[in-house]
Amino acid sequence: MVSTFPSSHSVDQSQIRLDIRALQPQLVAWRRSLHQRPELGFKEQLTAQFIAQKLQEWGIEHQTGVAKTGIVAIINSGSPGPVLAIRADIDALPIQEENEVSYRSQHDGIMHACGHDGHTAIALGTAYYLWQHRQDFTGTVKIIFQPAEEGPGGAKPMIEAGVLKNPDVDAIIGLHLWNNLALGTVGVRKGALMAAVECFSCTILGKGGHGAMPHQTVDSVVVSAQIVNALQTIVARNVDPIESAVVTVGELHAGTKHNIIADTARMTGTVRYFNPKLQGFIGKRIEQIIAGVCQSQGASYELDYWHQYPPVINDANIAELVRSVAAEVVETPAGIVPECQTMGAEDMSFFLQAVPGCYFFLGSANPAKDLAYPHHHPRFNFDETALGMGVEIFVRCVEKFCG
Ligand SMILES: [Zn+2]
Ligand SMILES: [Zn+2]
Repeated sequence: MVSTFPSSHSVDQSQIRLDIRALQPQLVAWRRSLHQRPELGFKEQLTAQFIAQKLQEWGIEHQTGVAKTGIVAIINSGSPGPVLAIRADIDALPIQEENEVSYRSQHDGIMHACGHDGHTAIALGTAYYLWQHRQDFTGTVKIIFQPAEEGPGGAKPMIEAGVLKNPDVDAIIGLHLWNNLALGTVGVRKGALMAAVECFSCTILGKGGHGAMPHQTVDSVVVSAQIVNALQTIVARNVDPIESAVVTVGELHAGTKHNIIADTARMTGTVRYFNPKLQGFIGKRIEQIIAGVCQSQGASYELDYWHQYPPVINDANIAELVRSVAAEVVETPAGIVPECQTMGAEDMSFFLQAVPGCYFFLGSANPAKDLAYPHHHPRFNFDETALGMGVEIFVRCVEKFCG
């Protein structure tokens, strides 16, 4: 495949690597400092202070308080050219850390268990490097430090606050450190990378009574059991088998005692799919099934259904830019993994709906060092060697896109 973006000839590629390797101890120090003070979505005050203080120290123009705790850094090369945005999410999760490391979380019950501390350090390193080397590219790079990716979602309010305007962003890239891939590999592909996510919460309203006299009741447990089973037919029998989709009931609560028929039952669940054309379809089928089963059993229901994030869809040209750059960084064709789709979701999708771009996975697992626990696990941790690789991929993307 021929790259649409000719390599920048003015920059010595091996020098970039040496300069970024020299940054590695700082990347690790920043990441560990952030790791010790994790904060939940829209409460990232200390994190935002940390970022703003570094940008201030380096003299990089930036705006704070965007969508509450977000920050946008502007790195203007001084010469006209394209505008590339780089997005990093900065929030943590409500998890008690079980890692016994010197830099473990000091905030009880909160942990950077998804690697967003690493994303923030990579974005800071990229900002620092690009500002030092702003003569090596044209145009402008916007670095977007986004709050609340884990929920309720900071991307949409940041877009509404105008982060993609003035100057208008031509393309956006972003990465996720990824323990489902080994260190030294990069998961990048055009098209759908991550799924859309929709959620539902349903209460089945039956009629309670004695466990020995079911004929006097409408058993919400039996109705719920039929609904949970019938929902499985949506993916199996209604969605085109060429498409990928998931319907999961994650919670089902009913009853108080073995000899009491439960009056009500409550279930919650999540729906995932890649193809935006499925938006609205699965939710409609869920309601039809719930309504049909309830009607046949004499129960009623209350259903809340909401669309949370659209699918993460990469632009073919920008995905090719990232792929070509990542291939140079990992230095082996086997290091590029296009089969990296996941039904996980990400609000990077809102940025990718607004402007062409590419989100990619940066392999960070190293089982030999016991750094391979899954994301959102109390022992999640990643190989920090990936930090420098992330900076190198971002920097080379800028120099190719804005070269
Ligand atoms: Zn996560
Ligand atoms: Zn994450």
